[in-house]
Parts: sequence; structure tokens; C-alpha cells
Amino acid sequence: MHFAFTEEQAMFRDMFADFAAKEVEPRAEHMAEDEDVPASLLKKAAMQGFLGALTPEDFGGAALDPMSYILLLEEIAKSDMSTAMVLHVHNSLVSQAILLCGSEAQKEEWLPALAEGSVIGAWALNEPDSIALGSMQAAAKLHDDGYALHGTKAWVSNAGIAGLYVIFANAPEGPTAFLVPADAEGLKRGNRDKTLGMRGVQIHPIYLNDVLLSAENVLGRPGGAQEVLDQVTDFSRLSMAAIALGGAQHALDLGVAFAIDRKQFGSEIALKGAIQGYIADSALEVETLRSQIYRCASLTEQGKLDREAAAIAKLWANRVAYQVGNRMIQTHGGYGYILDYAIGRVFRDCRTVEGIEGTNRSQQTAIAKSVLAAHGFAA
Ligand SMILES: Cc1cc2nc3c(=O)[nH]c(=O)nc-3n(C[C@H](O)[C@H](O)[C@H](O)COP(=O)(O)OP(=O)(O)OC[C@H]3O[C@@H](n4cnc5c(N)ncnc54)[C@H](O)[C@@H]3O)c2cc1C
Repeated sequence: MHFAFTEEQAMFRDMFADFAAKEVEPRAEHMAEDEDVPASLLKKAAMQGFLGALTPEDFGGAALDPMSYILLLEEIAKSDMSTAMVLHVHNSLVSQAILLCGSEAQKEEWLPALAEGSVIGAWALNEPDSIALGSMQAAAKLHDDGYALHGTKAWVSNAGIAGLYVIFANAPEGPTAFLVPADAEGLKRGNRDKTLGMRGVQIHPIYLNDVLLSAENVLGRPGGAQEVLDQVTDFSRLSMAAIALGGAQHALDLGVAFAIDRKQFGSEIALKGAIQGYIADSALEVETLRSQIYRCASLTEQGKLDREAAAIAKLWANRVAYQVGNRMIQTHGGYGYILDYAIGRVFRDCRTVEGIEGTNRSQQTAIAKSVLAAHGFAA
């Protein structure tokens, strides 16, 4: 696809692709087997500025524009979606929330450490029985001049390597976001969750038992959790969509290479109509997804990314990643089930996308709400 990138964006994209090919791709299979994105790789990513990708230079970051950041996630995900996911949680959620909602003291304390990679960020919103602020059980009780956190958070990506958590809990003022160092007393990490896909991402529950915090740990204002979410949700959905795009492109590339190589009944299977149908439908979906994502990145640059556009990108990304991965498994025939072939890992990773940053159902709700509102109907 030809998109009007600036010279700098095109140069960055080539640089990201080069890093992914040299540093990520050769390790991808091992990372899934070992269930780890190694610290040595994150160190190399940090040296390239990828751990402070969106952070201003004043705080030691690379200050990428939104389009360049989306290209970073897409290119890394073409090699390994787990590595892209680690970068996404760290940058699009944790660093962004601090940058957009934090006090000057919080920015100075955390952004340079996050940018240099000496601290990895994790985002603890969801709970075993809650994926929304309204049903959240974690409590932040008043304690002296601060708060005491109690509760359980589930599905915390990067928890195995995190130095800093953004944790959401119900304070007397209402749902509130807190910055909590990983070594805070009373914070315990539970056993690793074994996952179907994106197996390099270290996901754990965390248990909060009387974690004492001062008022300085509040991110935004007490009772302001929704404001924090509103600041980051649309762009983080777009970021996750870019990871899905990279994964879907990878699946398509693997399927096409296999179809050209594999001979059956005397000719390459790439000559068979059914296989060409899989390839054509997949290329159609990948290209339309790419168009929507780049359009949204451009809207972000203009400060115009809205909930509907981001939810459309994420919903389409969920579907495309799954469908393209599924077709390319089928293109591989029996070899698609043999783990020596990368397509199995890529398909599992593509399938995992829907579980993150909102299921298809929640994207549909966001889109329908916005469409109905445009017709004067409040849903
Ligand atoms: C790999 C991975 C990494 C993650 N990382 C993080 C993280 O770092 N931090 C974090 O906080 N969370 C994280 N999550 C959690 C993730 O955001 C949630 O799993 C996701 O939002 C879905 O929540 P749930 O599992 O409770 O599903 P549920 O809400 O229980 O939904 C189950 C099913 O029911 C459907 N459903 C739910 N409500 C309705 C309804 N009203 N109408 C119709 N259908 C409905 C859903 O679409 C879904 O198909 C991660 C998840 C995964 C898979």
C-alpha cells in the first residue's frame, strides 16, 4: 500500500523493519517456547528508543509521532506479536497515561526510567469478575493521608517483568488510578497464566493486601479513573489493531510462500483457484485494515481520533487477524498443524488479539452507540 509517509516516517519504518528482522524474528519461536520476551531483547529495543517511543525527548524518549509509532508496532508484530505487545502495554498504556494525566513530579520520577527500560510498565485494570470500572471490586481505603489498596487484578500483561503498575481501585472519591511500584509492600504476583497465544508476554494476577500509598501515588485526580481511561483508550485500541495488522501480514506472507513452494497434483498449489481465493480475500482484508489504521494514525496526529474510528479499527483488526490466520493455516494443509511451521504460532497469536483491549462485542457496542448518537438516539 502506498501511503503518504513523510521522509522521516519512511526512514523509521525501514529502521523498525531492520531491527525486527535482525533482532526479533530469529528469536520469535524460542520466545513462544520459553514463554519469555528476554531482557536482553528489551535492552536492545530500549537502546533504539522503543521503550520511550511516545515519550518527549525532555524525559529521555524518542518522541515518535503517532504514525511512526503505529509503524513500529506493525513492523515488530510482523516478526513477533508478543514483543510488540510488551512494547504496547509499556508505551501506549503506562507511559502515555503518565504523560497525559500525571503530575510533573510523577513524569520526572517515572518517564525517564520507563524510556530507558530500567522500569517496565504494566496495566492492572481487569479483575477475575470485572472488566469495567463500574463492577470493579478492588478497594482503595483511606489510610492516614493516603490509601490502602486491597483486591485482586487479573490478566496483567508484563507483570512478570514490571517495575511499575498502573492499578485501578475504588477510592471513597470514586474509581481511581494509582501508580504503584512493583516492590510496594503488600503487592504479590500470582502464578503465571499459561496462554494460547502471545506466549512471550508474562501475564500474572496480582494480589493487593494493604498496599499503603500516599496521595502522590494517585494518577490524575482521586475519582478520576474514567478520565485516565478516556485519555488512552482510543489510541491503545489503535495500537493493538496495528499489532493485529502486523500479525495478519505475517500470516499472509507465510501462506503465500508455502503456496508457491508446495506442489500437489503436479503443480504449485498457488495455481489452484481455492488457494488464490484465500490469498485474495486475505490481501483484501489486510489492505483495508491497513488503510483504516493509517487513517486513524493520521487522525491522531490531527487530534481527531474518536471512539468510533478506533473501535472500527480494532473490531476489523480482531476479525482480519483471525480470518487471515485461519485461511493461511488451511493453505498449509496438514503442515499447518505441525509446530515446526511458524504459521501455527502466528495463528495462535492472531487469535489472541480479540481478548485484549475489548472483545468484538465491546467494539460493536462502542460503534453502535456512536452511530445511533449521530441519529439523535442515546443508547
Ligand atoms: C493476552 C491478554 C492480555 C491481557 N492483558 C491485560 C492487561 O495487561 N491488563 C488488563 O487489565 N487486562 C488484560 N487483559 C484482559 C482483557 O482485557 C479481558 O480479558 C477482556 O477485556 C475480556 O474480558 P473477560 O475475559 O472478563 O471476558 P467477559 O467480559 O467475561 O466476556 C466473555 C465473553 O462474553 C461476551 N460478552 C460479555 N459481555 C457481553 C454482553 N453484555 N453482551 C454480549 N456478550 C457479552 C464477550 O464478548 C466475550 O466473548 C488481557 C487479556 C488477554 C487475553
